[in-house]
Amino acid sequence: MITGASIFIDEPCKRSDQDNIGVLLMHMLIDGKECTSLNDAWIDVINPATGAVLDHVPSGSATDVDTAVESAEVAFGPWSKKTTRDRGIILFHAAERIRQQHTDLARLLTLEQGKPLKESIDEVRGCANILEYYASIAGKPAGEAVHLGSAGDCMVMWEPLGVCGAIIPWNMPVIIMGWKVGPALLAGNTLVLKPASATPLTNLKIAGLMRDAGLPPGVLNVVTGPGDLVGAAIVKHPLVRKISFTGDCATGSMIREMAAHQLKEITLELGGSDPMIVMADADLDRAVEGAVRGRFYNAGQICTAVKRLYLDEKIAPVFIKKLQERTEALQIGNGLSPGTDIGPLVNREQADRMSDCMNHVRDGNEGTILTGGCMVSGGEYDDGFFYKPTLITDVNPRSRLVTTEIFGPVLPIMTVPDLDTAIAEANRTRFGLGASVWTNDLTTIKRVYRDVHAGIIWVNRHLTIPPEIPFGGMNESGIGRENGYHALENYSRSKTLFLGW
Ligand code: NDP
Repeated sequence: MITGASIFIDEPCKRSDQDNIGVLLMHMLIDGKECTSLNDAWIDVINPATGAVLDHVPSGSATDVDTAVESAEVAFGPWSKKTTRDRGIILFHAAERIRQQHTDLARLLTLEQGKPLKESIDEVRGCANILEYYASIAGKPAGEAVHLGSAGDCMVMWEPLGVCGAIIPWNMPVIIMGWKVGPALLAGNTLVLKPASATPLTNLKIAGLMRDAGLPPGVLNVVTGPGDLVGAAIVKHPLVRKISFTGDCATGSMIREMAAHQLKEITLELGGSDPMIVMADADLDRAVEGAVRGRFYNAGQICTAVKRLYLDEKIAPVFIKKLQERTEALQIGNGLSPGTDIGPLVNREQADRMSDCMNHVRDGNEGTILTGGCMVSGGEYDDGFFYKPTLITDVNPRSRLVTTEIFGPVLPIMTVPDLDTAIAEANRTRFGLGASVWTNDLTTIKRVYRDVHAGIIWVNRHLTIPPEIPFGGMNESGIGRENGYHALENYSRSKTLFLGW
């Protein structure tokens, strides 16, 4: 029995206003039940394509976090004692439900986040893929045996950490939920998850589907509310043994400091400034498509988007011409409209950040704007937060375009005389999340893999992150890894039995 003060609701409310988007008024999910916050405060969820209020979610409090953590702590015992296989079966069922409802979920994601429907569909299916991947390796996380001759034998087992906290950003909320929920739950932990306040709806809906698929009450709790209140309360809660956070570098540093007091385990997936290097021997058309997708997917709001383009000077003029043509042909619009390639930025704050950045670039002569560089205006565009895909050449190496993470559809283009210069420039950053090289030359690939500092080096592609491979950064891009076996280890600790015969 959970004794916290949140208000539990027997029947989820139906929406009553005329803006019927076909979803329920969303509540938090604690101990397997919909609930609202005692303080009866609400957060508006805005459709970034129209500026209209889409829904409201409870603005939770530290008391709600206490309730959720208490529920997760109670659930931990029985959940961690289940076999990994039994936990995996529930993840399989959850993935199946997500697949069955992927069209509705994708539509909801587009409504709250703005991305084109086709990208939302990819993301929702991607979340199901991740849950299936972890379910499929349920038999694997076993441990090891160490034989010490006459001294004895050791058995090293992996065990879960306990209650974990997951803090989700708004840019890829569904896939990032999968990255955290899949390994955390398979390893036997329970979770308290806080969605971003801009995009809580699809996270809540998926959590409900996971419950309906058989997750016992308390195993996955979702508390909505402001980061500095609900997020911070999760981080500081003494019963929470690990925090997994994705978001801004500054927020990540703050969370690391908060978690350090209780020596909590931590995974931080922070920003990036990924370089894309195109050599003269590359398939140029393919590389142009790679740059367009790598920079403008999700309106550029991806940690591992292409954020700096380095072109071999021999092919630069022809490459830039092709890239400009492709960029100017992209269709900007409501993510639900057929044919849309780029939706709006997630909210007014992000749009203001982009406008502010471009003002600095203009005022400081930091580069030449080849195309874009402003919001899209006129008619229905004025209600949303649409930003033109932007290309910038003649970039000053000290410009914020290359020294900071630009989280929007803006691509600075630099030319380099040779591979050595490209590698040196690629490494001139405090980040180290991803990098790509576009070439058919094996020696070039070996050099870039060896010398560029990044958690993943792609060859002739950028962005793809399958569930099987570890994902995470170097330097200020983060700590720890998501995906693959690495994430399972990051949600576990080893425990040794020493048998002295
Ligand atoms: P934040 O890092 O502030 O938000 C990410 C998540 O952290 C949200 O759930 C947020 O809650 C929560 N949060 C905020 N403050 C705290 C806190 N003190 N303690 C615990 N949790 C907290 O990013 P923003 O939304 O403010 O975006 C700012 C910039 O961050 C972007 O312009 C972009 O550069 C970068 N960013 C990077 C991402 C990445 O994938 N690397 C993803 C998102 C943003 P709430 O939503 O309620 O504020």
